[in-house]
Amino acid sequence: MRIDLHTHSDRSDGTTPPRELVRHARERGIDVLALTDHDTTAGWAEAVEAAVHEGVTLVRGLEISCVLEGHGVHLAGYLPDPTYPPLVEELGRILDGRNRRLPATLERLRGLGIDIEEEDVRRVAGDAAALGRPHVADALVEKGVVGHRGEAFDTLLGSRGPAYVHRYAAPLEEMVRIVAAAGGVSVIAHPWAKRHDFAALDEERFAALKDIGLAGIEVDHQDHDRATRERLREIARDVGLVVTGSSDYHGDGKIDHDLGCNVTEPEEYSRLLDLAAAASEASGRDTPEVVVP
Ligand code: AMP
Ligand code: FE
Ligand code: FE
Ligand code: ZN
Repeated sequence: MRIDLHTHSDRSDGTTPPRELVRHARERGIDVLALTDHDTTAGWAEAVEAAVHEGVTLVRGLEISCVLEGHGVHLAGYLPDPTYPPLVEELGRILDGRNRRLPATLERLRGLGIDIEEEDVRRVAGDAAALGRPHVADALVEKGVVGHRGEAFDTLLGSRGPAYVHRYAAPLEEMVRIVAAAGGVSVIAHPWAKRHDFAALDEERFAALKDIGLAGIEVDHQDHDRATRERLREIARDVGLVVTGSSDYHGDGKIDHDLGCNVTEPEEYSRLLDLAAAASEASGRDTPEVVVP
């Protein structure tokens, strides 16, 4: 059984519509797929329909922009009630922050002599509910300023780049509590991506996060080297957190993240679902089921 618990569609910064993503998953031999767009559940309905049609098991999720001690942390939330008011409110705040950042980013680019209009970005972003730097990157590619998304991040949009603008993200601990109260489970996505050893997210912190409802750690991810994975796996075992593995697929938007390039072990998936069932029960919320065709 091949289980991929972290993928993006064009409702955020992936390049494939949810329907195509699900079809692609079936063609790639993925049995269980989670759709986890950044900060939005806008792709859920289309993905559910496609999952039934294609015969792929679908877990409805999202990847929430959070912050811990000034550092960005991505929290994957699975199977929460998307109408839970505190969740709706925080996601609204994050999406507002994304919308407000866009003109500020374009202003920075203008200061660098690069003229991109907001409508250029919105056009290339198409159906995206969560606008991000990848869409600005796509507009830069279209204008011929850079060759691909990665180059845009390396030269302009990256966190130390000249066109970087800060945006709002949700406090991590608060979001772990919100996802639990919405009847879902949360997993820290790629916690040590490119940082190898992230001091703010050490074993003690993972244990404290587990105490307030964190379910797991995404250990197997392309941005974790072998030593990082070994250390995170050890922490997950010591603390009692579920270990997940996923592709973080973004279509053509990210190279080396093909569907199924990392997968979650069936026993870990089953533990995650047990925790989700318990969270749903405890919350009293109307949570989405896993779609089993
Ligand atoms: P944002 O959410 O707007 O702050 O943009 C961050 C997103 O950009 C992340 O979700 C990544 O998927 C994407 N990203 C970051 N670095 C790169 C890169 N070098 N190439 C392509 N996409 C990237
Ligand atoms: Fe992304
Ligand atoms: Fe992420
Ligand atoms: Zn992601």
